[in-house]
Amino acid sequence: MSCGVLKSEMFLGADGTVCPCMSMVDAKAESWPNAFETPLRDILGESPFMDRCATSVGMVRDGNDACRACEYIDRCNGGCCAGALMSSGNYLAPCPENCHFFSGGWYERFQEVGQRALEQYLVAHPEPLERYGQGSFGKSTITVRECL
Ligand code: SF4
Ligand code: SF4
Repeated sequence: MSCGVLKSEMFLGADGTVCPCMSMVDAKAESWPNAFETPLRDILGESPFMDRCATSVGMVRDGNDACRACEYIDRCNGGCCAGALMSSGNYLAPCPENCHFFSGGWYERFQEVGQRALEQYLVAHPEPLERYGQGSFGKSTITVRECL
């Protein structure tokens, strides 16, 4: 899956539900194994849990036409699988929250705010620029001359 947490964590619900992420625990479209009914060795064998954990980034990226054609695919990777699953029942669908973040211009706004914060920080604390000659944030590069 595109979210790294899903490759490294196991969520165990109070009712015994085992799924890759706590935001997926109520997904009706999935038949998650239950730790009270199925031994852990079987859950870690062939199970819907392991099946979802084995999903690749490429499958998420190419899982639907919208993500495949999206200009933000290299940054978003299809977004949050839990958001997609809970909103549409399909974990390979676009994540509505990520779509709103990127298509609503929030990504660029965060970039701008981060850029300004970095510039102000480097004006107050120029040591890194003096040592290295330039600083970078995202796609931008800041030189000593631009900041001081
Ligand atoms: S909520 Fe989404 S981003 Fe967070 S761990 Fe779950 S799948 Fe990953
Ligand atoms: S912004 Fe939406 S459509 Fe674009 S890659 Fe992310 S989830 Fe897919």
